[in-house]
Amino acid sequence: MLDNNSNSSITADVQALDADHHMHPFTNTGALNKKGARVITHADGVYLWDSEGNKILDGMAGLWCVNMGYGRTELIEAANEQMKQLPYYNTFFQTTHAPVAQLAKEIASVTPGDLNHIFFANSGSEAIDTIMRMVRQYWSIQGKPYRNIIIARENAYHGSTIGGTSLGGMGGMHNQGGPLVPNISRIRQPYWYGEAGDMSEEEFGILCAKALEEKILEVGPDNVAAFVGEPIQGAGGVIVPPANYWTEIQKICTKYDVLLAADEVICGFGRTGSWFGCETLGFTPDIMSMAKGLSSGYLPIAAVAVGDRISNAFIGHDDDFNHGFTYSGHPVAAAVAIANIQLMKKDNIIDYVAKDIGPYFQQKLREAVGEHPLVGHIEGVGLVAGIALVKDKATKAPFSDDIDVGMICRDHCFANGLIMRAVGSRMVLSPPLVISHAEVDELCDKVQRCFDLTLQSIS
Ligand code: PMP
Repeated sequence: MLDNNSNSSITADVQALDADHHMHPFTNTGALNKKGARVITHADGVYLWDSEGNKILDGMAGLWCVNMGYGRTELIEAANEQMKQLPYYNTFFQTTHAPVAQLAKEIASVTPGDLNHIFFANSGSEAIDTIMRMVRQYWSIQGKPYRNIIIARENAYHGSTIGGTSLGGMGGMHNQGGPLVPNISRIRQPYWYGEAGDMSEEEFGILCAKALEEKILEVGPDNVAAFVGEPIQGAGGVIVPPANYWTEIQKICTKYDVLLAADEVICGFGRTGSWFGCETLGFTPDIMSMAKGLSSGYLPIAAVAVGDRISNAFIGHDDDFNHGFTYSGHPVAAAVAIANIQLMKKDNIIDYVAKDIGPYFQQKLREAVGEHPLVGHIEGVGLVAGIALVKDKATKAPFSDDIDVGMICRDHCFANGLIMRAVGSRMVLSPPLVISHAEVDELCDKVQRCFDLTLQSIS
């Protein structure tokens, strides 16, 4: 589909600049330069346009972040007004400003439990690094600096700073740029479809939670600072744990007095039909990270919500906490995040995802491709889903290594006006929360068509 802004010379010009000077994240830049990056020019609602005039349905909400959709004037105006009033000031020099203080209150108004204090950062990775330093420092304040082991999971994604990389469980990342941060341990992921064999979800949930207890006992309960996990693993392929998993994890953390940290960078701000994924999955963390949906991706901002136990320790302690960023609580990003949370409340978006569009999307997706020959399993909740592509539905046998089914499928999606991400052989979806019923229908039609094309390509 073409529109008036299409211009092939824009494509060539931007691609040339890009190839000459831009190094892309998580990309083989040399290979990309040869083929030329797709140039995105503008966006509205749930759609993007590229410089060739193609209209693309954004099934990933950018990178899991544009929750309130593109082109929201409320967010644009909030940035504009704040730019004029106070474009920047820091919060280091015993100073504050209205946007950061108000945003802390807005976030605390939607966080569960006693997560009442907020520390600001600019990215999910920085928020994770903040949690890592904070939980270790918490135990130091308690006179137990040796409690510094952080336990996380295989196939977890917690960002790509050295802290986030070390904490995450992605082998491809661990192999580069090491050595990693010490005193991090990992346990298995709760991937029922892929790793449970004949076990029921319930049995597998218990087994995977028990792995935490075993690890705590192995390294010594008195050495463990915290357990960190995404409520639903996102970049690992959208892995929804068995329903009993997180309640068991919480019990184990309580039993051994291990702090429980939720990485809500993807699940936060409505993605699963609650403000935070931990509410959907049934646990209450001591501390949690958030980013992405906090500003619907309009400006970079992230935060750590800190429970009373931890915040009281820091607030009651004599020392400074020697941590923070030039742009912690940036006023313009904060103003946008305030406007975003207010817009979410005004539009009742949590209810829309929980009771209306989320169930509709999950059902439509299953109707469209649940029986497709390529599809082994679909899992998801709210507006996030992961689809396992397999060679054999009955045995769950994967494709051989020479068939990169995920990439083949992703390329068909790109060519057919849909952005869908591939994580190995899992296809993932995370559309803007404002998506309409008609747009969900269109999305599911496109998924079906692209799965058909993928099947043709590999047959
Ligand atoms: N944690 C999780 C769960 C994430 O999904 C991500 C990003 N996808 C991050 C942390 C890192 O966030 P950022 O890319 O903003 O540093």
